Amino acid sequence: MAYVITEKCLAERYGDCVEVCPVDCIHPGTYKGDVFMIIDPKECIDCGACIPACPIDAIVDAVDKDPEYAKINADLTEEFKKNPKIETRPPGDQPRKSTNKRVF
Ligand code: SF4
Ligand code: SF4
Repeated sequence: MAYVITEKCLAERYGDCVEVCPVDCIHPGTYKGDVFMIIDPKECIDCGACIPACPIDAIVDAVDKDPEYAKINADLTEEFKKNPKIETRPPGDQPRKSTNKRVF
């Protein structure tokens, strides 16, 4: 099992999750022309630290909660792992997509 970054992150990519991951398994890239982030399913240790760090609730704690994006995370891992790290967005930065709401 592994945690999964869902479609909510697409075009948002706050990056706060990266700061708290103890095994550095969250990687940035571009998907469908938008900024995105994935979790490497082979490295994730299911610690749960990333979920409360995401301001728009874009991470789920099980593959079966979003099988489509679980596959996308896995498929993009090798490519995204090669990308340089990204800066986190400023504190309080509002979501870019109207469908997303900040949860804190
Ligand atoms: S904190 Fe949330 S929106 Fe930001 S990169 Fe991580 S999953 Fe995506
Ligand atoms: S559950 Fe833990 S190990 Fe897995 S991506 Fe989130 S912070 Fe990293």
